[in-house]
Amino acid sequence: MAHNTATEPMVRIEGLRKSFGSLEVLRDINLDIMPGQVVTIIGASGSGKSTLLRCINLLETPDAGHVWFHGADLAAEHVDVNSLREKIGMVFQGFNLFNNMNVLDNCTLAPVTLKKMSKSEAERVAMGHLESVGLADFAHANVSNLSGGQKQRVAIARALCMKPEIMLFDEPTSALDPEIVGEVLEVMRKLAADGMTMVVVTHEMAFAKNVSDEVVFMDRGVIAEAGAPRDMFTAPKQQRTREFLSRYL
Ligand code: ADP
Ligand code: MG
Repeated sequence: MAHNTATEPMVRIEGLRKSFGSLEVLRDINLDIMPGQVVTIIGASGSGKSTLLRCINLLETPDAGHVWFHGADLAAEHVDVNSLREKIGMVFQGFNLFNNMNVLDNCTLAPVTLKKMSKSEAERVAMGHLESVGLADFAHANVSNLSGGQKQRVAIARALCMKPEIMLFDEPTSALDPEIVGEVLEVMRKLAADGMTMVVVTHEMAFAKNVSDEVVFMDRGVIAEAGAPRDMFTAPKQQRTREFLSRYL
């Protein structure tokens, strides 16, 4: 858990709205993410969690409101979307790895092609991150031969190879067998302890409680309640938060 004295948010979300057709998926979302902070987003399926993450890294365009990154409006005309995305790492439920490549090539592809890093430098960086997720020995293994937990750890290492300032996780353990969820959460816990700024959509309440600095509960497109985990889990203010959390007891 990182604590930081910086007063400027890394990401500021203000009045964010997003609809798909007549379905209002995000309704006036306001949220600040401070450098070094770990924000966990919880909420029922369909409440808008993934859409919110996707608005942060420009995979979705908001209908109204703003997402600011270090004080720059992501919707501004002159914003370089590609260089911005390089600073925002994303880890998906389904890994999204290149299954026809080995682990190391998965990790070096974007740094070499997008960042114009030399292959040898990219491999040096990648080996460091594979080491930190416990997969250095698998660098030359084919991705398709890995377990789900190993694939997700590769996905985290791959995202880190771009040297992101913030990491977004969208239900990173939801596709995993229960017995291997822990190895992925442990990698994320270490990343948080190292000071990475993180936004984590998850149903792992123990992770939310123990690792995050702030928990955000989304309900039908709004932030119904947000606060420190000790408050949220011991004394939720809203009835709908209590109802949601009671399903995890
Ligand atoms: P969550 O991640 O909390 O489960 P989502 O953000 O994925 O929620 O989705 C919120 C709602 O928006 C859901 O009803 C979903 O079906 C709908 N939705 C998400 N993406 C699209 C899309 N591209 N087109 C139409 N509807 C979408
Ligand atoms: Mg989702």
